[in-house]
Amino acid sequence: MIRKVRTHVNQNEPLLFELSSPGKRAWQLPELDVPAVDAAEALGAGAVRDDIEGFPEVSEVEVIRHFTRLSTWNYGIDLGLFPLGSCTMKYNPRINEAVARIEGLAWAHPYQPESLSQGAMEIIAALEKRLGEIFGMDAVTLQPAAGAHGEYTGIMLIRKYLESQGNPRKTIIVPDAAHGTNPATAIMVGYEVLNLKSNDRGMVDPAALAAAVTSDTAAMMLTNPNTVGVFEQEIVKICAILHDKGAQVYMDGANMNALVGIARPGDFGVDVMHSNLHKTFSTPHGGGGPGAGAVGVRAHLEPFLPAPRLKRANGAWTWDYDRPRSIGRVRAFYGNFGVLVRALAYIMAHGGPGLRKATLDALLNANYVRARLEKHYQIAYDAPSMHECVFSDSKQAAHGVRTGDIAKRLIDYGFHPYTVSFPLIVSGALMIEPTETEPKQELDLFCDALISIAEEIEKDPEMVKHAPHLTRTTRVDEVMAARKPIVRWKPGPAGAKAAD
Ligand SMILES: *Cc1c(COP(=O)(O)O)cnc(C)c1O
Repeated sequence: MIRKVRTHVNQNEPLLFELSSPGKRAWQLPELDVPAVDAAEALGAGAVRDDIEGFPEVSEVEVIRHFTRLSTWNYGIDLGLFPLGSCTMKYNPRINEAVARIEGLAWAHPYQPESLSQGAMEIIAALEKRLGEIFGMDAVTLQPAAGAHGEYTGIMLIRKYLESQGNPRKTIIVPDAAHGTNPATAIMVGYEVLNLKSNDRGMVDPAALAAAVTSDTAAMMLTNPNTVGVFEQEIVKICAILHDKGAQVYMDGANMNALVGIARPGDFGVDVMHSNLHKTFSTPHGGGGPGAGAVGVRAHLEPFLPAPRLKRANGAWTWDYDRPRSIGRVRAFYGNFGVLVRALAYIMAHGGPGLRKATLDALLNANYVRARLEKHYQIAYDAPSMHECVFSDSKQAAHGVRTGDIAKRLIDYGFHPYTVSFPLIVSGALMIEPTETEPKQELDLFCDALISIAEEIEKDPEMVKHAPHLTRTTRVDEVMAARKPIVRWKPGPAGAKAAD
């Protein structure tokens, strides 16, 4: 049995209310050397706060320690490997932060006149140019605030373009190995979704695609590398099949981590794509914070890009609002500027060869993890892994233990779980993306943990099924926790325990 103890750094920190004891104060002041004034008289009664019933009474050091300890519960990339597949949780180099905090950038205001914003505009232009080169695309917009938002923008562009050709068409083909946001995007833009089944190597089958494309097909949305971490090896043929029928190719390049500096979507025939700057280009993400889903297009789609566009006039940058064919704005102002600054800092700090090296290291790390775990977990597809590897829990399921249980046990080993049960085409998926920023020591710790869990499952599957054992709470009702979260503390009788 695993004993729970409360030491000063663990997850068994009580609530601040539970630390309270009557009369404690977090401040002390010297005795007054001026006459006392009644606050209600001096400020007006309305400005004086009533006492709050049940407010915790604690000392200063208790407050500081309480919140400092809580901060260590927040698992982050600065604490250890964050192996969420498809999410590209790479380390955010501190140079990005230093640059984003430069006063003139951090305090720039979008209503500042253009004459005082030339530096900020230069940054946007420089990033557009570099991403265009990395994507192999003719033009880039930085307005979209997330990957899914980039998809939405991209499919709107396709719709507007096809409309200009006389017919927006009806359907968008989405392979079953695509990210879940892809079909959602197609529906949002008013298209029907045609689901295309992958072949036994987790790839699009060109013959099946050719049979599915008709004159009603507006586009195909292809995640590449796809969500099983596999590069679509027939991509050139795939693009040709769609173009032959007048359809467009959208590439979800959220995972450009596997391509940057090696292959360019524009070169293999993609018409429009997005990439998540908050994944591939290292700006921090998670918890719904700001992101950027830069969208790159080939020249025929450029007139439709969101307005305004940057333009050079009389030796200075200016915003061009006169874009009659534009789909319009997709976001207030010019995108999440702080994210754009960090992405440019990342690109420039690496330089071209450095970006290519990062890509190769991402592939190396994923394949190292794959090689170490392959004997213990079933690899999902017999195809080369790119920047992530996907296993199924079939060996463990034979003992009644599923991917979610393994992920919970991983928490006991001090790791954030991998992506659980996604992609859906793999039964009981364990999707692992280490990224290039992990040293071998950290990868080994992680692989050791997963191998140890595989051995535990053979000896004592029940123990793993009830993991985690070392956390404050164990298994919560995930549906109720999402639908009816309890976020407010109700003071109970003294000494009462908080509800989990
Ligand atoms: C993360 C991801 C998205 C969605 O990006 P958001 O910024 O979360 O909207 C889309 N497609 C793929 C392949 C992704 O990995």
